[in-house]
Amino acid sequence: MNNRGILVLYTGCSGVGKGTIMKELLRRDPNIRLSVSNTTREPRDGEIDGVHYRFVTREEFLALADADGYIEYAEYCDNLYGTPKQHVEELLAAGYDVFLEIEVQGGLQVMEQFPDVLSIFILPPSIEELENRLRGRGTETEEVIRQRLAEAKNELAVAQQYRFRVVNDDLNTAVNEVLDILQRYR
Ligand code: 5GP
Repeated sequence: MNNRGILVLYTGCSGVGKGTIMKELLRRDPNIRLSVSNTTREPRDGEIDGVHYRFVTREEFLALADADGYIEYAEYCDNLYGTPKQHVEELLAAGYDVFLEIEVQGGLQVMEQFPDVLSIFILPPSIEELENRLRGRGTETEEVIRQRLAEAKNELAVAQQYRFRVVNDDLNTAVNEVLDILQRYR
């Protein structure tokens, strides 16, 4: 591979199923890579350091921020999340299409830096459905669920600024839509 890959800004509210879509995208398209972010959040059951996230202390996180080592970073529900510059640059240079699965504050920073970025927002069929999915997942406490739902309402307002919006009603349809958008962009 010698062509530079495409940077894809990929955002959706917590519980919308963007992780499930992402897994399918990775399985179906070998040229796609997911950027691994740094976070100060505690790992959930089954999450592996270096695969799902790099789990770092607040001090470690801020040290890299001071060294200008992030494309973007943001505080979300009391934890810091950031996209390491070097990691993304290496993947793009190797020709991979790199998905940044990040929330809206980070998304807006990316759009500012890269006005031509391919931006895709994953929408829930409705807020009620989002609430059902968040509860069904059973990975968050009631307080965190409420916090994430409140956040989701703000996020939906920003969805309008993304170039493409995909509704995750049926998984397979949503995956095909994202692959189709990427294919057209290539
Ligand atoms: P979670 O705690 O559910 O893994 O992630 C919470 C939110 O942070 C999700 O919307 C996720 O996409 C977002 N996120 C993950 N990594 C990053 C990152 O590097 N930067 C930003 N701004 N958001 C991120």
